[in-house]
Amino acid sequence: MIECQNVSVRYGNDVKALDSVSFKLEGPSITGIIGPNGAGKSTLLKAILHIIPSTGSSQIDGQPSNSQLKNVAYVEQKSAIDYTFPITVEECVSLGTYPQVGLFKRLSRNEWHEVHDALEAVGLEKMASRQISELSGGQFQRVLIARCLVQDASLIFLDEPFVGIDSVSEGIIMDILRKLRDAGKTILIVHHDLNKVPDYFDQVLILNRELIAIGSTEETFTKENLRAAYGNQLLSIGGEASDR
Ligand code: ADP
Ligand code: MG
Repeated sequence: MIECQNVSVRYGNDVKALDSVSFKLEGPSITGIIGPNGAGKSTLLKAILHIIPSTGSSQIDGQPSNSQLKNVAYVEQKSAIDYTFPITVEECVSLGTYPQVGLFKRLSRNEWHEVHDALEAVGLEKMASRQISELSGGQFQRVLIARCLVQDASLIFLDEPFVGIDSVSEGIIMDILRKLRDAGKTILIVHHDLNKVPDYFDQVLILNRELIAIGSTEETFTKENLRAAYGNQLLSIGGEASDR
């Protein structure tokens, strides 16, 4: 369960990137965070994870979120990740065992098994000793999902995981996420392709600096709520929101 009360973020002296966002989100579920560019979607994840300063408060499973960070696997927006870093696929996935093992400590045989099981789950077992720089965008995103599997956190936060990746990788990742949800995980995905929303998400959180709406996809992913978040931009986006 994730709960936020009046979470606000201000970068520099600028306008608020998030303005008093409050909600309560129950798992297990796959929740899509949607809203226009600059709506504060990435900012919301970073505020809950205490990567950036915010006011208000947030809880994970009833505890202050900063005491629960070990329980969250987080994959940031791809543009922020350096994938020229000289590291192999299996080494990258093994970082999911941190902080249990400690960075650059040797993994136990059991932990290497977990790394290889995770690579198998994302269909990349044959790429284990490649450099990450050799992978396609979709393969790299699957490596990051494998790292989440190894971390075995109860919450998974993914920021725009499907941007610029092939549809095979997207399908493999969604299958894994559905299995993880069915196994009890709470998954939050920042996502901007509105067409996929009804298929991918049990719940949606619609944001535009303020919380516009949150709830089951069926009841919340409505033209009215989308119009409130996107305004006239919606005309060019389309989508298959229910007509309520
Ligand atoms: P989204 O992920 O919904 O596209 P962001 O959370 O990245 O939006 O950004 C929300 C707003 O905050 C935008 O106006 C963005 O320009 C601004 N912003 C994001 N990160 C920073 C930063 N590090 N410094 C200053 N402004 C930022
Ligand atoms: Mg973003």
